[in-house]
Amino acid sequence: MPAETIAIGTELTSGAKLDTNSQWLSLELAAVGIAVHYHTTLADDLQANINAFRVAVDRADLIVITGGLGPTLDDLTREALARMLEVDLVLDETSLEIIRSMFARRGREMPERNVIQAMFPEGSTPIPNPRGTAPGIWLEIPRGSRPPCRVAALPGVPSEMKPMFREQILPRLGSLATGRVIRHARLQCFGLGESAAEELLGDITARGRDPEVGITVHEATITLRIVAEAPSPDTAQDKIFTTRQQILERLGEHVYGEEEEELEDIVVRELSARGETLASCEGASGGLLARRLQRIDPNGGVFRGGLCGLSDEALATVLGMSPAKLRETDPHGPDRASQLALATRARLQADCALAITPRSRAAVHEGFTDVPLAHYALATPQMVEVRELNLVGDPAIAQARLTKSALNLLRLHLRNR
Ligand code: AMP
Ligand code: MG
Repeated sequence: MPAETIAIGTELTSGAKLDTNSQWLSLELAAVGIAVHYHTTLADDLQANINAFRVAVDRADLIVITGGLGPTLDDLTREALARMLEVDLVLDETSLEIIRSMFARRGREMPERNVIQAMFPEGSTPIPNPRGTAPGIWLEIPRGSRPPCRVAALPGVPSEMKPMFREQILPRLGSLATGRVIRHARLQCFGLGESAAEELLGDITARGRDPEVGITVHEATITLRIVAEAPSPDTAQDKIFTTRQQILERLGEHVYGEEEEELEDIVVRELSARGETLASCEGASGGLLARRLQRIDPNGGVFRGGLCGLSDEALATVLGMSPAKLRETDPHGPDRASQLALATRARLQADCALAITPRSRAAVHEGFTDVPLAHYALATPQMVEVRELNLVGDPAIAQARLTKSALNLLRLHLRNR
């Protein structure tokens, strides 16, 4: 039988805060072979909590509750558990001593209302919380002929909840864990659309395949997530390795990295290995390219700097050239992109330069009118290469696509040189 997470807090149901605990817990549980089939999110309401706990005890073998263990009136988890079980809350002297001493160490007297945090439903076990005042609660609820339902109630604060779960809850889940391990791996791809990627991958993304491969897209980056389940970590890794090779064969140079890697990580790493430098000049992307590069290379070992400008006057000023010279090219055309890249390379004395033109207004593009366009170019000691990109859609996403496309042009150049 599956597990359920219950996240408690009106800040969650009102939309003021996102429930990230359930996501984290589900990944942790999946890693030991426990599938989570329900995510429940509840307001700080006693009756709602009691009702939801009853439903969960019936449909899940394991329930992990987070939130509602604080000392204030809206913290109702322990009371709701006691009411559901029709038992009293009883004081645990050991927990009270621990809470008192936590206050003492901070040089404060424990407020009377914190006593509630040392009260536990009769028959439950306190779970110590070394990082905060709210201990957790562990319960095993008999269900007649069925195996007992196990319940862990943990504080909502993620930095307290996570170590408590790993150190004190996971070890209690022995017989629930299937003995099979789950391992994940991610491959990052750029330069093709989601449907094109699916077509190339074919049966690799079929549902129910082993290992399973999922596709998600974020700002034109395609992430392939491989999930392998096996009796041992080694077998799971072997399965991931085989699927990874199959993906690389089909997507080739579109795969640029793994796990959290971004295009700028690859570009800076490759340039650094060659002892080469990079500079940028941006119109339509307003500095986003420079920000990406600077995040990876904060000391400027590879990235010498980024220029920004929209008008001919501004661009001429930052590039140290005459506006008349700049005006020899169409501000939105391919020649402007090459001109900016070459001038930036010279101006910042870099080996390579990426340049992005200002956004055009109403171009005709592949049969559509009013399509905003930008050109981007790469200048290296040997050559200049220009590309065109349409910027339709959400401007923030279009800017991300544009800067990634420029980085990808450089990545492919370095790869194939
Ligand atoms: P509580 O244990 O209910 O007092 O929660 C304390 C704080 O932890 C809340 O104010 C939130 O900032 C945070 N928190 C509670 N539940 C969650 C959750 N499910 N996901 C992320 N943060 C949470
Ligand atoms: Mg709360």
